[in-house]
Amino acid sequence: MVLNDTLDRPLHDLRISLIDRCNFRCPYCMPSEKFHHAYRFLDKNQWLTFEEIARMARIFVEMGVRKLRLTGGEPLLRPRLDELIYELSAIEGLEDLALTTNGSMLSEWSYRLKAAGLHRLTVSLDTVDPEVFHQMSGGRGDLNEVLGGIRTAEEAGFGAIKINTVIQRGVNDHTMLDLVRHFRGTPHTVRFIEYMDVGNQNHWDNAQVVPSGEIFKKINAEFPLQRIDGTQNGGTSEVYRFQDGRGEVAFISSVTKAFCGTCNRLRLSADGKLYTCLFATRGTDIGGHLRQGQSDEALKDVIRQVWRRRDDRYSEIRSKLPRGTQALPKVEMYQIGG
Ligand code: SAM
Ligand code: SF4
Ligand code: SF4
Repeated sequence: MVLNDTLDRPLHDLRISLIDRCNFRCPYCMPSEKFHHAYRFLDKNQWLTFEEIARMARIFVEMGVRKLRLTGGEPLLRPRLDELIYELSAIEGLEDLALTTNGSMLSEWSYRLKAAGLHRLTVSLDTVDPEVFHQMSGGRGDLNEVLGGIRTAEEAGFGAIKINTVIQRGVNDHTMLDLVRHFRGTPHTVRFIEYMDVGNQNHWDNAQVVPSGEIFKKINAEFPLQRIDGTQNGGTSEVYRFQDGRGEVAFISSVTKAFCGTCNRLRLSADGKLYTCLFATRGTDIGGHLRQGQSDEALKDVIRQVWRRRDDRYSEIRSKLPRGTQALPKVEMYQIGG
């Protein structure tokens, strides 16, 4: 039986954050002035164990979830991750198992991820300018490592990789055509995601959002684009192909063209909290229920309650929200992984 929320949206996707730590400090996600050496991340014993994650995943699939995405923080920092992927890929009824990474450790991980049964990879990459890249990783990342990681992933058999790109005005907007040129002619799709006001740490400013329409125009002027019918990914992205047949790009217009109406995602944080929206102010501690030894049926009841009362549509109503709403404490992107 399909589980629907108050706006008739079915529960279809689950994003599982495996860890809240990261080896990067992208200013729009984990600004280094806040996430410094003394910052207290979760203790390891607060992380859901692989056994607990696999149990939750199986329960969710029994309840209708068809797609799992592993994320973080940086998921490749979670030791022995391939053992978890091996478990998850064996869940009957699961149709899609994907992982989002900053790509910096793909050279060492790609073959193991493939062998363990991971279906698809998304790599976050905001620019192919080495200086701008270094700056956008909070001074921690090396562009060559990520590009090398993508090459290893290709060799390991990951065919079409999604490249997630956030464009910030005045930061990397001048480099976006180079990124498009870099991936044209490959099976990979660059997906431009509008910079969002997730969390309270990134000092988000609407003036830094580069609307998809503006990015589209720039790309289309140099490489004419043609819309591919329909949206993909539960309605989140609009996909275009290059008219000369040399691949695709996509746009995720989370700010200028909200898609809450088709949002069918639930998010599970590394410490076992369920969040029904990227902009949620509180989560439900399913991990607590799990650790109290509750039965599968009791956990399903909690999930049903969470999803049935879900009425989130933050992006659709952002501009009409009362003043001060943005300052309310919200979950952070590094806790739920996008
Ligand atoms: N560390 C991994 C990575 O970077 O791919 C996985 C977690 S990261 C939080 C997931 C995605 O969230 C990345 O693609 C990142 O660019 C995106 N992201 C983080 N903060 C964002 C923001 N404020 N607006 C839009 N996307 C954001
Ligand atoms: Fe780390 Fe990903 Fe956040 Fe960047 S976007 S700081 S790589 S979790
Ligand atoms: Fe989904 Fe919330 Fe984003 Fe709307 S604002 S698309 S409900 S995550």
